[in-house]
Amino acid sequence: MTETLPKLLLRLSEAGDPAMLWGRQAAPHAGRDFERLLDHGVLVEQAPATEWDVCPACDCGLDARPIHQVNGRHIAVCPTDRRNDVVLGADDLRSFRIHSSALVREIAMASRFGGEPTPVAAGVWHLGETSNQRALFLALSQDAVLQPGLIGLMRSVARSSPITVIAPAMAADELARFVDAAIAIIPIDGCLDGNAVGFAIDLSTLESAPALEPHLVIFRQSQRVILGGNEVHVPQQPFKLLVKLAEAVGTRKGHLTPQEIEAENSGRSAGDLIRDLRNALHDDQKTLIRTRQSPTRYFLVLAPGEFDLRP
Ligand SMILES: [Zn+2]
Repeated sequence: MTETLPKLLLRLSEAGDPAMLWGRQAAPHAGRDFERLLDHGVLVEQAPATEWDVCPACDCGLDARPIHQVNGRHIAVCPTDRRNDVVLGADDLRSFRIHSSALVREIAMASRFGGEPTPVAAGVWHLGETSNQRALFLALSQDAVLQPGLIGLMRSVARSSPITVIAPAMAADELARFVDAAIAIIPIDGCLDGNAVGFAIDLSTLESAPALEPHLVIFRQSQRVILGGNEVHVPQQPFKLLVKLAEAVGTRKGHLTPQEIEAENSGRSAGDLIRDLRNALHDDQKTLIRTRQSPTRYFLVLAPGEFDLRP
């Protein structure tokens, strides 16, 4: 198990309300901590599933296929081909709604901010003050942190204090709005205590000065990549893609579309190329390459000062 339960719940919450935890995702986390989240209303179990996704390449025309109970087993039945029937386990039928305000209360309690988190806007809470007198906010989802008017709302809560926001990773152009407003953004997946099953925010991540050393160095000619001080081997095609993603960071748009990626690499889909690039990175670096849906776009989660693109 690589991802802790708190990190899993925060990642699932990034897509916005209603966030769901499926039984199969929950199963490896069963135990006392999980029960406590049920008790605290962070997770609320939903009625057992009665429908299941249709098979990947089905022509049955259904939006969802029914789950039938046959001889005590639950089966997601394919109406056109019995070989595509799926036998479901007990975990598959379970699901849990993640209640965002209860989740934030859990984080605030574990971090000992004292007092209840105060809602500021949909999906955004004021947690309190950091020890260096910054007003601390938490935004659970991408939509929440990017909602219009949020900067003004946070300023009115913070009064004259400087502002730090814990938020999901965002594209460079979106980040620039906060940088321009002198607001510090701390990525949500980096600030939880790494070794704990608890929800405590590692307060040192809030107070350390922003890293001045480039986190990522790319040497175009020698085709070398240094990430977090270590050399990473990136094959030629994904390397070209990494350079393009880095070049996009300083631009107004900040991202690449699938069409732009495929135009440079005939014959392969953007999704495949992005996967190759992520596979070249270590586990804890894969989140550097982000995907955003509708419409699909790809971007590097680094600010212009955090990487160095060299000849
Ligand atoms: Zn089917």
